Amino acid sequence: AHRFLIILGDQLDVNSAIFSQYCPETDILWMAETPEEVEQIWCHRLRITFFFSAMRHFRDELRAKKFRVHYREMNQDPAKDEGQTFTDLLLRDAHEVGIRELVVVEPGDWRVKQRLEAAAQKLGVPLTYLDDTHFFATHMDFQKFASGKKKLILEYFYREMRKKHQILVDEAGQPEGGQWNFDHENRESFGSSGPGKLPAPLKFSADTITQEVTDLVRARFPSNPGEVFDETLAVTRVDALKLLKHFVRHHLPRFGRYEDAMWTGEATLHHSRLSVYLNVKLLNPRECVQVAVEAYQAGHVDLASTEGFVRQILGWREFIRGIYWSHMPRYAELNFFEHQQPLPSFFWDGQTEMVCVRESMSHVLKHGYAHHIHRLMVLGNLSQTFGAHPYQFHQWHMAMYLDAIDWVSLPNTLGMSQFGDGGIVGTKPYCATGAYISRMSNFCQSCQFDPKKSTGKDACPITTFYWDFLSRHREQLRGNQRMAMQLKNVDRKTELELQEIAQRAKELREQWTSLEPS
Ligand code: FAD
Repeated sequence: AHRFLIILGDQLDVNSAIFSQYCPETDILWMAETPEEVEQIWCHRLRITFFFSAMRHFRDELRAKKFRVHYREMNQDPAKDEGQTFTDLLLRDAHEVGIRELVVVEPGDWRVKQRLEAAAQKLGVPLTYLDDTHFFATHMDFQKFASGKKKLILEYFYREMRKKHQILVDEAGQPEGGQWNFDHENRESFGSSGPGKLPAPLKFSADTITQEVTDLVRARFPSNPGEVFDETLAVTRVDALKLLKHFVRHHLPRFGRYEDAMWTGEATLHHSRLSVYLNVKLLNPRECVQVAVEAYQAGHVDLASTEGFVRQILGWREFIRGIYWSHMPRYAELNFFEHQQPLPSFFWDGQTEMVCVRESMSHVLKHGYAHHIHRLMVLGNLSQTFGAHPYQFHQWHMAMYLDAIDWVSLPNTLGMSQFGDGGIVGTKPYCATGAYISRMSNFCQSCQFDPKKSTGKDACPITTFYWDFLSRHREQLRGNQRMAMQLKNVDRKTELELQEIAQRAKELREQWTSLEPS
C-alpha cells in the first residue's frame, strides 16, 4: 500500500521535511486545489490566482525532479467538482489508491489540523506530523520563553532570538551598535514633498500556467472582489528570490525610516512585500534575514533599517506564531469589547468618500496587499473603533490578502489590530484620530472630511469613531496604564460633546450598514 505525503498550499518549501521522508516505491506527494478554500469566503481573485499558480509551478518542479505527484486541479465548471472540501478529495483519492499512512508537515491552521486528523480516522490510517523547519523558533522554544510569564512581550522574545541565532550580536551577546531597538529613528513621514522617484518594480509576465489559472478564475469567479492578475507578483522561488534581492538593494536602506509613512498611489513604498512568499514558504526567513545583515555588513544599509527589518521577521513573525499555537482554539473566540457589527461594504469594494480608506482598499483590491500602517492604522483602526466583530475582521482579512494564513492573520487581526484578545499580543488598542493619518500621509489634503473634526457632516469618520470608541469603552480600559493619556483626553470632553459624537457615530453606522457591496 501507498503513503500520501500531503503538501498544503502554504507549504511550497523546497527544504520541507516531507522530502526527506519520500520513498519512490511507495510514496505519492498529494496536492489539491479545493473549492471550499476559495468559496467559503468571498475570496479576492488574485489570492486564488496566486495560490493555484504557485502550487502548479511547485508541482511541475517536483515532477521535473522525478517525484510522483498526485495533483487535483480545480475545474472551470463547478458541476464537475468531485468534492467540496479538502477532506472530501483526500478521502476519495486515498480510497482509490489504497493508502496505509498520511504524512504531512504540521499545518499553519488549527482547523486544517483537526480535519486531517478526522480524515485519518475515517480512513483508519495513522497520520504522521513532521516538524515545520521553516521557522526560527520551535514550539518548544516559544513554550520555554512563555513559561512562568504573566504577559508576553515581543521585545524580550526578540532579544532572546537575536542571541540564540547570533544575529546582529557580538560574542558577549551584546547588540550591534549598543542597542536592541532603533524604533525612535524609524517613524518619519514624507512631509509635503512625498517619497520622490521610487525604483521601478520588477515585473513578471504571465506564463502558460498563470494564464490557465487566470482563465479559470475569470470563468469561475466572475464577481469576486479584486484583480485577477498582478505583474509585480512572483509565483516561483526563483522570482521570489529576485524580489528579495531587489528589495535589499533598492528599498532596505530607507525601510526603517519610512516604515510608517503612506502616500497616494504607492502601495509598497519601501516595504518588502515579501510576506506572501515567506508565508507560502517560497522564501525562507533565514535567507531574508541573512541577506539584510550582509547588506549592512557590506556598508550598503544602516543599522536602524537592518535592525527594523530583522525585528519584523525574527521578532514579530515568530512571536505571532508562538501566540497562535499557544492560545488556539480558544483564541479565535475572544472578543474583549464584545463588538458585533458586520464590516461596512467598502471593505469589499473600496467605494467610500474617505480618501485614506479608499486608498488602502485600492492597494488591497489591486495587489491583495497593503502595508502594515494601512492595515493597522487605517482599515484596522476604523474597523475596531466602528465596532466590527473581530473574528469577522479576520475572515475578511483571510479573504482579501495574499499573505493571510490562519496562524499569522488571526493574532494580527483579532489580537494586535482589534484588541479582541484584551492584550495578549499587544499592550493596548491601536486607535487614533484622523490627525495621525494626516501626519503620516498626504491623504487628508484631498479628502472632504476634516481630520480634526468629530461632529458635523464634514467630520472625519475616523476621528468620530475614535472618540466614540474611547467614550464607550473608557471604563473597560481604565486599568491600562498605556491608555491613560488617551483616556484623560476623553474625560476632558463634556457630556454634551460626547453625546454629539455618539449621535454622529450612530448616523454613520446606520448609513454604512445599509450599503451593499457593488
Ligand atoms: P515588511 O514591512 O517589509 O516587513 C518584513 C516582514 O516582516 C514581512 O514580510 C513579514 O513577514 C514580517 N512581519 C512584519 N510584521 C509582522 C507581523 N505583525 N506579523 C507577522 N509577520 C510580520 N502579516 C502576514 O504575514 N500575514 C497576515 O495575514 C497579516 N495580517 C495582518 C493583519 C493586520 C490587521 C495587521 C495590522 C498586520 C498583519 N500582518 C500580517 C503583519 C504585517 O502587516 C505584514 O506582515 C506586512 O504588512 C507584510 O508586508 P511586507 O512584506 O511589505 O512587510
